[in-house]
Amino acid sequence: MQRILSDIERIERRRASRRKWEISHPVQMKAQRKRHKAAHRDKESARFRRYYEKHSAFLKERSRIYKMADPERAKVRDRLWRQTENGKLSDKLHHMKRRDATRDKPSASLKELSAITARQRGRCFYCNMKTKLTLDHVIPLSKDGSNTAENIVFACLHCNTAKGSRIWRIC
Ligand SMILES: [Zn+2]
Repeated sequence: MQRILSDIERIERRRASRRKWEISHPVQMKAQRKRHKAAHRDKESARFRRYYEKHSAFLKERSRIYKMADPERAKVRDRLWRQTENGKLSDKLHHMKRRDATRDKPSASLKELSAITARQRGRCFYCNMKTKLTLDHVIPLSKDGSNTAENIVFACLHCNTAKGSRIWRIC
């Protein structure tokens, strides 16, 4: 019993001194957290998603207040975000969801779009040319195609316009 108690005491002491170290070394702690996040990216993003779902109303309100407090700063941040790969995809996603034909249908997530882009490595799905790509529905929305990941590819402007509302056949 005595031994167990002293073990507990030892652990408690170690924890306390660790906490003290953490408080007095904010810079190192920040770096450590950053390293940990990078090493456990999937776990961290799942955790954030769970947190976001649970507190979405609060987070939205906070970001609204943040934007109101300094609209210029918010604009700059927004512009910077839109220049990133995910920012560009998120623009496309937003645009896609705004179309009447798909407004109430399920649609691909940003993560899925990002996986499709990664798979195509900047090349057109149809002609394989490396160029500026646009989002294309394999089965057009007008032919009752969906907005889900299985129906989305990235195509060069030429292939996308040439295809129009036809269904492309690769054979
Ligand atoms: Zn093409």
